[in-house]
Amino acid sequence: MPNMSLNKNPMPTQEPQVRAHNFSEVALGYTEDTAIDEAERCLNCKNMPCVKGCPVSIHIPEFISKVKQGEFEEAYKIISQTSSLPAVCGRVCPQETQCESRCVKGVKGEPVGIGRLERFVADWHNAHTGNVSSDVVSNGHKVAVVGSGPSGLTCAGDLAKKGYKVTVYEALHTAGGVLVYGIPEFRLPKSIVAKEVDTLKTLGVDIETNVIIGKTLTVDELFDMGFEAVFIGSGAGLPNFMGIPGESYKGVYSANEFLTRSNLMKAYLEEPETPIMKGGNAAVVGGGNVAMDAARTALRLGAEHVYIVYRRSMEELPARKEEVEHAMEEGIDFRLLNNPVEILGYENPDDPHDPKNGFVTGMKCIRMELGEPDERGRRRPVPVEGSEFVLDVDTVIMSIGTSPNPLIKNTTSGLEVNERGGIIVTEDGLTSRQGVYAGGDAVTGAATVISAMGAGKTAAKAIDEYIMSKEKV
Ligand code: FAD
Ligand code: SF4
Ligand code: SF4
Repeated sequence: MPNMSLNKNPMPTQEPQVRAHNFSEVALGYTEDTAIDEAERCLNCKNMPCVKGCPVSIHIPEFISKVKQGEFEEAYKIISQTSSLPAVCGRVCPQETQCESRCVKGVKGEPVGIGRLERFVADWHNAHTGNVSSDVVSNGHKVAVVGSGPSGLTCAGDLAKKGYKVTVYEALHTAGGVLVYGIPEFRLPKSIVAKEVDTLKTLGVDIETNVIIGKTLTVDELFDMGFEAVFIGSGAGLPNFMGIPGESYKGVYSANEFLTRSNLMKAYLEEPETPIMKGGNAAVVGGGNVAMDAARTALRLGAEHVYIVYRRSMEELPARKEEVEHAMEEGIDFRLLNNPVEILGYENPDDPHDPKNGFVTGMKCIRMELGEPDERGRRRPVPVEGSEFVLDVDTVIMSIGTSPNPLIKNTTSGLEVNERGGIIVTEDGLTSRQGVYAGGDAVTGAATVISAMGAGKTAAKAIDEYIMSKEKV
């Protein structure tokens, strides 16, 4: 029976007071009954506007129809025709600006919970079905992928399904890119990413960790090793700082470093001794998803009070609405229209051995007001003269964006980048160097999981056409 409700079925979550002190997943997922009820809201529109909002063109009405009928494994098969990471996207995709923004149900009421249904289907599959061994026939061609984030994994998965022998080279000791070292456990459990990586391994993809392309091996050496094409999906992991005084005090982190220490060096567990802040007050500078993750992680690591310091207002805050709401419910203190001007630290000139020397003691900020719109149409924040004040903090986490690391560019001949360090590519993901393709954050700068996956998919198609066209010559 169609469900005429104007609202999505709510997502069950852990209580804010409880979850603020643990790293378990916040959102608990739909049950089978709730998933079927939500699927009943879908009108199965002929022109499928929702699909146009999905960068990997998942056949949304088709998979939702299967959920309606309780055929969850069939629904999974439909999703996996176009997406290699459904359990991930169902959790972290900014659905509200993508597929769900196009859903006709959103005209009068809330759109169908497409992301929540996708998550349900992927979790159902993972809980009920083991990995099936692959029956792909090898085509005898080899492709190398640099980086195991969503762009690299998608490119690798699509090529492996076509019979290519794909080797993924990853600089860190764990595969998954930002999905494992950036996005925290309470939003995306690491076991889910590991499961998706395992699925790729069953397709025959080799993943070599602890290999830094540009240091351990170069792109040129990969070609010497017999790879016929290389996909660069090395992300944008180089953190930006503000350039204000005091950024070298102890207790100032980039959000990337802070989250990596928590996620990969397991600072979030009781036992492992990873050097990271515990207790005291923390300020996170920035207003994106990364800032929300850093603030909520600091809270869970034991900070007494956590501030988000953002120079514009709530209206311009770029983080997902759901993440902002979750952060507020957990008690994060939003200091909007404020900007840091200096980080203050302890210095005892009489005793250079004083153990407190060099540690953060506070952050001087200035109040801001919104002026004329900038070139992107966002009102420019302007400092209010004489409004400086000091926030009492022990930790400062800078979350004001990242850029692509120049290592690969500097060690690969003929690879052109733009003024922001992004690799320049054609629509197909081809770089300025024949046989070398790129996609994801390494090209666009920091963006989204699904756009990185879309780029990996596009490049895989182009790489296949390139190698097959050489075969015909
Ligand atoms: P990455 O995921 O960055 O992966 C690149 C990989 O390449 C890394 O593993 C890196 O170690 C490796 N690498 C780098 N250089 C080399 C080298 N020289 N040799 C070998 N390997 C190398 N997006 C969303 O859609 N929703 C969210 O909720 C969201 N939250 C986020 C939260 C945080 C904290 C962060 C940091 C980002 C978030 N994003 C989110 C953005 C999203 O994760 C990225 O846009 C996406 O992961 C980019 O994918 P990628 O494959 O291009 O690169
Ligand atoms: Fe929507 Fe993302 Fe799923 Fe595409 S991958 S259908 S954009 S949630
Ligand atoms: Fe279903 Fe909405 Fe897509 Fe229509 S637009 S098919 S209602 S999800």
